[in-house]
Amino acid sequence: MTAKIIDGKVISDFFRAEYKRRVDRLASSGIRPGLAVVIVGDDPASQVYVRNKAKACESIGMYSEVHPLPSTTSQAALTAFVETLNARPEIHGILVQLPLPKGLDDRAVIEAIAAEKDVDGFHYANMGALVIDESPYPPCTPYGVMKMLEYEGITIEGKHAVIIGRSNIVGKPQAMLLLKAGATVTVCHSKTQDLPAFCRSADILVAAVGRPNFVEGHWIKPGAVVIDVGINRLPDGKLCGDVDYHSAAEVASAITPVPGGVGPMTITMLLGNTLHAAEATLPNAVGMETRLA
Ligand code: NAD
Repeated sequence: MTAKIIDGKVISDFFRAEYKRRVDRLASSGIRPGLAVVIVGDDPASQVYVRNKAKACESIGMYSEVHPLPSTTSQAALTAFVETLNARPEIHGILVQLPLPKGLDDRAVIEAIAAEKDVDGFHYANMGALVIDESPYPPCTPYGVMKMLEYEGITIEGKHAVIIGRSNIVGKPQAMLLLKAGATVTVCHSKTQDLPAFCRSADILVAAVGRPNFVEGHWIKPGAVVIDVGINRLPDGKLCGDVDYHSAAEVASAITPVPGGVGPMTITMLLGNTLHAAEATLPNAVGMETRLA
């Protein structure tokens, strides 16, 4: 079998076109969705991510601003700055680029963001909502995976989904989203015994490990859907995922490539969450329960 390639760029463009229509509709109510991105320190990779987020906002008519703060910023100053953004009505979404430099507490800063502006979805209130019911802001990467599956018409209900990785930004929220969609979910991690055996029982396999080409083709059940969240840089500078793409594509029915798979969806879902935050300020805003329908 040669797997269908799930093209994250095409799917991302599809959702961005929908979001652009919604941005245009909001303009008629005098609202332009606004995202503020805060970056502390001078990590070059983080600066590239932040610039890409701002550019993506502008590409669909949203407003964005980037706030670079020095790595010497204190916890109190960072919290106070986030609070100024909380108070500005034209800013609907706030994102603090993580990880923060050493000495600053990521969690404390996330909790300082007003929950209704937490478009990354990492605030306790939104993570709690994700577990109990449904978050208004599902974390962008696992939400992007759900949207890819939805776009491709892949049945989730009744399927066995295996996630490799239990991080707060990918693995755990991915498990909650798949569970809500009716999958039977297994979460594997660094202490899992006989990982290949778990993988072989997966109808949907999501790899979020951070180890290049880690998942081998013979670990994959014939016909499974393989979603590769990993982004790893090889010594030659090329990017690769957590899945050994060529051997996996021989066995899977569908697979995401790296680059060009989950990556583009992450930023697109950030746009979607920011747009939703802006729409939620309208009277008679539509409830979140329709978002993952
Ligand atoms: P993380 O380091 O926080 O978590 C990695 C997880 O992998 C851990 O839960 C760990 O238990 C598990 N793990 C490590 N070694 C393992 C092993 N030998 N067997 C089984 N499990 C093992 O990483 P993260 O933030 O969740 O990111 C994972 C990957 O996804 C990274 O490559 C990251 O760059 C990528 N990522 C991509 C996007 C995107 O937009 N596509 C977004 C976020 C993260």
